[in-house]
Amino acid sequence: MQKILYGKPVAEAYKERIAPKVKGRTLALLLVGGDGASVAYSKTIVKLTEALGGDVKVYRFPGNVAEKDVLATIDKLNASETVHGIMPLFPMPEQIDENKIADAILAVKDLDCLNSGNIGEFYAGRSPWAPATARACLAILRYYGVELEGKRAAVIGRSNVVGKPGANLLLQENCTVTVCHSHTKNLAKVTAAADILIAAVGRAGFVKPSMVKEGAVLIDVGINVTPEGIVGDVSPDCYQKASAYSPVPGGVGVVANVMLLQKLAE
Ligand code: NAP
Repeated sequence: MQKILYGKPVAEAYKERIAPKVKGRTLALLLVGGDGASVAYSKTIVKLTEALGGDVKVYRFPGNVAEKDVLATIDKLNASETVHGIMPLFPMPEQIDENKIADAILAVKDLDCLNSGNIGEFYAGRSPWAPATARACLAILRYYGVELEGKRAAVIGRSNVVGKPGANLLLQENCTVTVCHSHTKNLAKVTAAADILIAAVGRAGFVKPSMVKEGAVLIDVGINVTPEGIVGDVSPDCYQKASAYSPVPGGVGVVANVMLLQKLAE
């Protein structure tokens, strides 16, 4: 196995596979207010979709837009035969109930497994369509041939977008999974027993060598903006202990964007 699990070749392989189907399809992005991260993310998605021959319509609402106005737009997009995917960018301002927005999206157009129906189908093992970032972690492990069957895995983080679905995907691959969070006792003991460790904490360099098993595979989901640039949740001094690790930047992030479009291609 390659030691550095770069995201680029994984992303390229998926792009090649999905491009013929993305071509001619339209994605609608819903952007409320001027959240910097969401604006930057929307630009990345627009660029990627267009590069694959798809089309993107960005619906921009002012930060004080009423919830009903966003819901009315979703109704129209649901009914439109020329729109194939709808992606609301969270967080949205507090007058908007994100769960209502997520549940308003037609299941087949919900690209990131946001609505309750799709979430239920995924956790029940009836649908492979997990949130894109969680699928990206699995795509990297599969692409590089990491053996998962019967392995011990730990996931640090239990968010609905990464930690929980990531853990569920590993469970579906027959790993024995421990999900860790801010109340986990003896965290280092738990993570140091894991053959596969997914870090989705959102804290720069949170995972230290003492938390890593010799020969473990490390998947770093973290995107932390520091004065030194973007860094992951795994401290680089863990790398020498690992048999393989995904870098930040250049790891999960690049793959996650493509995974979002994978469902547009369905
Ligand atoms: P989040 O919703 O803030 O969740 C963070 C998780 O970390 C929570 O479950 C929290 O536990 C846990 N945590 C915090 N402090 C901890 C501690 N001291 N010990 C153990 N667990 C702790 O974050 P997220 O949305 O899952 O994102 C995680 C990271 O991934 C962020 O850096 C984010 O930027 C990045 N990310 C990347 C992508 C991508 O590559 N495209 C996509 C999404 C997110 P509690 O539940 O107990 O609070």
